[in-house]
Amino acid sequence: VVTLVDASVNASDPVPATGTTAGKSLSNEPNRILRTLPQIDRERLSEQMQPFTLDRGEVLHQAGAPVHHVYFPTSGLVSLLTVMKDGRAVETGILGADGVVGGAVAFGQPVALHEATVQISGQSLRLPTAAFVSACRSSPALTAAVQSVQFVLLLAAQQNAACHALHEVEARLCRWLLGAADVVGSPTLELTHAFLSQMLGVRRSSVTDAAKKLQATGAVRFRRGTVEIRDSERLKHSACECYEFLRRETGRRLP
Ligand SMILES: [Zn+2]
Repeated sequence: VVTLVDASVNASDPVPATGTTAGKSLSNEPNRILRTLPQIDRERLSEQMQPFTLDRGEVLHQAGAPVHHVYFPTSGLVSLLTVMKDGRAVETGILGADGVVGGAVAFGQPVALHEATVQISGQSLRLPTAAFVSACRSSPALTAAVQSVQFVLLLAAQQNAACHALHEVEARLCRWLLGAADVVGSPTLELTHAFLSQMLGVRRSSVTDAAKKLQATGAVRFRRGTVEIRDSERLKHSACECYEFLRRETGRRLP
């Protein structure tokens, strides 16, 4: 039986496999959704939760397939992808320690609507779908929190559709980096140009061009497999309006 994570645990460390912290300093729980629940709800959930490492590239669920587990990330970044028949994919949303992956099962959606893939490694707590659905039935606070996450994902998908159609690659790249850094809670992201091209739904050469221009301004530094945000104000200045819009809406709507 595990357990909501203790405040002393570094987000990058594995979740301890022993020593439940239920009933202790749960206000420091790293997952925002779990942190906001009444203590009794968290304790009930913690009895069925297991720590689960989110490894980069791992598919947590595939579009059209049953959702077997629901994940509460405590670090890292999970992408929600819409995948075409030819295998090309575009990101429609991201989730991290402020969200829950697979939460739609609480609303009668046992099958995943999109692919959920780990893009930046981290840790999570997960529980079987049936246990999660049952927990939602007995916890209005959990249901409301999961509903907020689903609503924010809908907003993000709508905004992303407009962003893809109307905004330039460079502005979208800035927006994506800022949003991802917020989710991960770090200015340094482990990302490649190939990955960014998939996230933004553009050719890799377009990402490389945009990255070069951006690096020349001093706002970011791309190194082999990592991106470091060095001047977030400059990056915000170059980002499309979608970054501020979603940041504000997410802040207002999540518990
Ligand atoms: Zn945009």
